[in-house]
Amino acid sequence: MKLKKILFLTAALSFILVSCKKDDYASDTFFAMDTFITISAQDADENLLKNAAKETEKYEQIFSRKDKDSQLYALNASNSSAVSDELLYMIKNAFEISENTNYAFNPCLGAISDLWDVTGAKHVATDEEIAEILPFCSPGEVKIDGNAVSKSDSKTVIDFGACAKGYTAQKIIEYLKENGAKNACVNFGGNVSVCGNSNEKENGWKVGVKNPFLTDDIIGYIVCTDKTVSVSGDYERFFESEGKIYHHIFDSATGKPADSGIKSIAVISSDGFISDALSTALFVMGVEKSLDFYSRRQYDFEAVIITCDGKVFTTDGIKEDFFFFDDAYFDGASYLKFEQ
Ligand code: ADP
Ligand code: MG
Repeated sequence: MKLKKILFLTAALSFILVSCKKDDYASDTFFAMDTFITISAQDADENLLKNAAKETEKYEQIFSRKDKDSQLYALNASNSSAVSDELLYMIKNAFEISENTNYAFNPCLGAISDLWDVTGAKHVATDEEIAEILPFCSPGEVKIDGNAVSKSDSKTVIDFGACAKGYTAQKIIEYLKENGAKNACVNFGGNVSVCGNSNEKENGWKVGVKNPFLTDDIIGYIVCTDKTVSVSGDYERFFESEGKIYHHIFDSATGKPADSGIKSIAVISSDGFISDALSTALFVMGVEKSLDFYSRRQYDFEAVIITCDGKVFTTDGIKEDFFFFDDAYFDGASYLKFEQ
């Protein structure tokens, strides 16, 4: 088992591990979008990687909620402004998927995230505090008219923390392809986009799925290419208070960390925006609603879901491409049970 696992490359602060890594791959790791990002491409020269990093920063300057120079920051501060085509595309898609997931994905939860401040002040919000803020977190507070976007109240904070990384990861893969790279993988803190294959013997890439109970272990891997794999879980960004865990994915209905019974979920899609947004939405929905949502086939995606009681569910279309490490299942993580 050890040998098999050594084939997987660990990425700092990531939910996912990606297989590769050959001498003919060049890679660059840097911090952007509030996470560590690794860009790897076969036969890439330094300039290509440098330019891909610059390209990433360009997207950060559009979608970052916290960066005072970003386009989204300006929109959040102004209540009403004309936005660029790229920001408009993100806004339209985010609000559409919000509606289609019955607001499990909600791009207007910025004020709730700030209240709990899971990675900063670590505040256990009171019911009164939540009740005061929640009315401003409804997507209905935002209106789109052409490329003019307005919010009815300055307390409404648009946040693309749950979809911008997957979207950008795929954009960077496209950028690498346009500039000559055939085989590449990028990891945006839990959003892995791949194209081509990891080496000529492989039919695609092996993207490892972490064991959310033992986070330096992996339970198995997904074989894929031209896809983004996005993971949402409760075990990387959280704090503990009086024996309770408070994580960073919120349920719009309660204004509290989602408590749906899902521990972590990997969503696989050819669209990085969709994989990222849905990983968050399905995490909030729970297993039953997620599998029901999948069966409606409104979006093209697959999922591997691990529940808080250690069960693993896979959607129909990924069963052939998801491989459990049997020994991880029986040995290091005996509580994981595979459900067909
Ligand atoms: P990560 O950013 O850790 O990869 P996610 O993709 O699940 O994980 O996104 C979580 C982030 O999205 C939070 O930090 C917050 O900014 C925002 N967020 C929290 N809850 C929701 C939600 N229900 N819908 C949309 N965005 C959310
Ligand atoms: Mg997400």
